[in-house]
Amino acid sequence: MAVHSRAGVVRLGFDVGGTKVALALGDGHGRVLGHARLPFPASGSPRRDVDCMLEAARALLESRGLGFGDVEAVGISAPGPLDATGGRILAPPNLPGWRDVPLAEWFGAAIAAPVALENDADAAALAEWHEGAARGTEHAVYLTMSTGVGGGLILGGRLHRGRLGAGEVGHAPVEWEGEPCACGRRGCLEAYVGGAAWARHLRERAPAAGRVAELAGGRDAITPEHLVAAAREGDAFACAELERWNGYLARGIVWLEMVLSPEVVVLGTIARAAGEALCFVPLRGLVAEHVGPRAAGLRIVAAELGDDLPDRAALGVAEIAANRASGTGRAGGPSSGG
Ligand SMILES: [Zn+2]
Repeated sequence: MAVHSRAGVVRLGFDVGGTKVALALGDGHGRVLGHARLPFPASGSPRRDVDCMLEAARALLESRGLGFGDVEAVGISAPGPLDATGGRILAPPNLPGWRDVPLAEWFGAAIAAPVALENDADAAALAEWHEGAARGTEHAVYLTMSTGVGGGLILGGRLHRGRLGAGEVGHAPVEWEGEPCACGRRGCLEAYVGGAAWARHLRERAPAAGRVAELAGGRDAITPEHLVAAAREGDAFACAELERWNGYLARGIVWLEMVLSPEVVVLGTIARAAGEALCFVPLRGLVAEHVGPRAAGLRIVAAELGDDLPDRAALGVAEIAANRASGTGRAGGPSSGG
């Protein structure tokens, strides 16, 4: 047997999303060796969906002259709610037809390697902590700020899972009888600052002849990107809406600071795209107004990992699987011993 095909040389990561699946092939030293993307299969059967993902993984490995036998560990990052310990997907609204799916068991049976499953926000938080903006901290909060608002908490130097899965910051209320949320309740943070909810709000409110609608090519096509672009040009409606968005986000961060006292709050997608002047500077000001001198020790910064975040997050979960299998007991711990 050739040395390069010895079992245990590569790790596989799957980032399973409602619209696409990202596959990454990594070594055991944090390097990404290759990756692939496929649309979420949505075949109507979770088993067939998983078979499609396994087929894509097989093709990715074969392109490197490898096979499932060379895989040392598998990591899966997927939308919640899920049971990370039991390796099961429960009933995520973003994966239609998936209900109580034993994902870790299915992948483990096909690939014959240890498998770990994490909530996608937790996996992203771990990636930002290992290699991104939360590097070197003991207490960090990561908020996805994309279609929804997922949160991952690193507390005391490890991922905090809580009793039912912690970090559901997006579904913490910022108004009691507020906007309806995708979760069925009202007034959640996500109903104000999540990308999907914000886009809906903007499509209703934006002036039909205004700059935001013009950039989008019509009100019905408005997304947060158009709003941010118009705000950058100084459009009054866009600036006011962004101010409202920052205001609600600040309410969430004030709670996080008062309850968890993190060293850093790392913000993903929309905040990262809006940048310092439109998002982070006003946000830090609002938070400081409400938490007082405590704000001096709190960093509020943009995520550092960009397009490669799904790969990094899924391979980080593979590292958890590898650590569990080798009995180092560092599940969720830093990637290096230091
Ligand atoms: Zn909610």
